[in-house]
Amino acid sequence: LGWLARDPISRQAALRPTTTALRDLTTGRALAYADLETEVRRGEALLRSLVSPGARVAVLARNSVHHVSLFYACPRAGAVFVPLNWRLSGPELAVLVEDSAPEVIVYAAEFEPQLMQALEGRAQPRLFRIGETDAFADALAAARPAAPSPIDPLAPAMLLYTSGTTGRPKGVIVTPKTAFYSAMNYTFVGELTAGHAQLCDVPLFHVVGLLAVMHGSLLAGATVNLTAAFQPDLTARRLADPDLAITHYFCVPQMVQSLLDAPAFDPAACRGLKFFTGGAPMPDHLTLALAEAGIRPSNGYGMSENGTILGMPLDPALARTKLGSVGVPSPAVEIRIVGPDGRDAPDGEVGEIWLSGPSVTPGYWNQPEATAKTFSGRWFRTGDAARRDADGFYFIVDRWKDMYISGGENVYPAEVEAVLIAHEAVAEAAVVGCPDERWGECGCAFVVLAPGAALTEADLLAWCDARLARYKRPARIRFVEALPRTASGKIQKDILRRTLAAPQTEYSS
Ligand code: ATP
Ligand code: MG
Repeated sequence: LGWLARDPISRQAALRPTTTALRDLTTGRALAYADLETEVRRGEALLRSLVSPGARVAVLARNSVHHVSLFYACPRAGAVFVPLNWRLSGPELAVLVEDSAPEVIVYAAEFEPQLMQALEGRAQPRLFRIGETDAFADALAAARPAAPSPIDPLAPAMLLYTSGTTGRPKGVIVTPKTAFYSAMNYTFVGELTAGHAQLCDVPLFHVVGLLAVMHGSLLAGATVNLTAAFQPDLTARRLADPDLAITHYFCVPQMVQSLLDAPAFDPAACRGLKFFTGGAPMPDHLTLALAEAGIRPSNGYGMSENGTILGMPLDPALARTKLGSVGVPSPAVEIRIVGPDGRDAPDGEVGEIWLSGPSVTPGYWNQPEATAKTFSGRWFRTGDAARRDADGFYFIVDRWKDMYISGGENVYPAEVEAVLIAHEAVAEAAVVGCPDERWGECGCAFVVLAPGAALTEADLLAWCDARLARYKRPARIRFVEALPRTASGKIQKDILRRTLAAPQTEYSS
């Protein structure tokens, strides 16, 4: 791998020193590429004085310049960057801290209670607090920038924790090589180049924010505008701000409706905006609403272990004709759809997505067994079910593990959930398979009603009867107050399954 791939900032600093690389919209601080390079050099010098190679260096803060400078400084110093999810509670954070055992933690004062809880009874790392004063910025300012050290493209450079939807979050090992190809996957699909500007509402502790939006943009010489979080009205105003001149935006499907509903949302100002979604199923009506507003939508599919895997071309006409699709394979990956019999499934049939290519992780931190289980030779098994149509467009069906078999027929809960959610009295729904004497397995639906709505089990079953084959109709419906979700908002079906197995245990919602 060439220098650009391993360490793009030093090259961008030489090529376009005065172009704005980063803007922190919370503090107003802006860094040109040359400034960012200086910051990274200071970061390397500081890390070398603090830790030995191989040490983990964590950040627990909303999107900040420190995330970016540490992302590039850690591999230069041989350290491993660990961006932590600030939405986690103390006990959830403890799992990540125990697994990654960071020697340095840079943290924002607002998350101090969770962090102190997570660190209780453990070896104390070196802490840098960001409050009214920023202890890490002070330490950086005092460090003497040094010429960049060469980077090993195959060494662990970062641990990215998965969302923990199917169990304990796993630490995905990212190397400079996987990071580069992962970013390129997005840069290609996103038609991203110098002169473009990204609004980064997504958190820098997830693969999308860090490797696609941030690393992908900086590799291209574009500008990244960091925000503290998604706030519909503020986001709408920023998208319309001529000074920011935003060309690219990413958000998760859950946010799209509130953005479109925000009083400040101005379709005229967003005309032609490249608008990416992913991470969870994207409802068709939202894709259409974006296209109708003159925006160029692209729904994609990805995961922490690779970043962008599939993406829709930025073509509003295709968004309509291939509605519901997550598009075509990203440039760096090869994809197979493997049926239950272990053979490649023909077009139109559902199988598990298998993945191969230079953007795929070498494995999970501290988890050789989980790593071995997920790889089959050079193929990484994603655990997600999909089908490909005759034109080569892919459609995500559901998590492979969530499929259940009722009376010999495969049922994908996502299909049943889409029917339940289409009922106006239903706010949220989740379906899991449970053992059944007669059918082997049957579906149990957990349903949250819309505020003020009333609906009986019989009514909802009748609604399903009119829209689903008999074997897909849930056998039972349980009305609940809320669904158990991860810190990033994904439904935790394991908890629902455990609740069914032991009805006396209620999950806390
Ligand atoms: P864990 O691996 O800890 O159980 P997770 O898989 O939710 O958590 P992430 O890596 O954040 O952790 O999420 C990747 C997963 O999100 C994918 O494997 C897939 O199940 C889901 N996903 C991503 N994009 C889409 C999409 N466009 N449509 C449907 N599901 C998606
Ligand atoms: Mg996963």
